This record gives sequence, structure tokens and C-alpha cells, in this order.
Amino acid sequence: MAKTHRGIGIRAQHNRGRGTCPVCERTGVKVLYSREVGENTINVCKRCNAALSHGKLQDAIADL
Ligand SMILES: [Zn+2]
Repeated sequence: MAKTHRGIGIRAQHNRGRGTCPVCERTGVKVLYSREVGENTINVCKRCNAALSHGKLQDAIADL
């Protein structure tokens, strides 16, 4: 099957859904996962989203 439609759902987003993750500060990653940090909602990358779900990286988001 051709890959014509890969990522078609995020192409309309800013920079095609890519950017710098505020937690790990990697650039060029897909920042698509919204997490609530206190009163704010931030978009993080896939790996940070998983880590936060496991209760890790809490000190990394504490000062965001
Ligand atoms: Zn990240």
C-alpha cells in the first residue's frame, strides 16, 4: 500500500505537527500529545507523554 496518506491528519497543524518538546527539548519531534500540568495544558512528544503516564519526568515538568 502506498504511503500517500501518511500523517495527513496532522499536516494542517502548525509546522505539520512538529516542533520542540517543552519537556525533553528535542527539536523536530511531533508534539501532539496534550498533558495537563497544573492549570496549563502543554503539548509534549510521544516519549514524554508515555513517561508522564508512567509517573516519570515529574521533576522535568515541575518548572514548566
Ligand atoms: Zn519530549
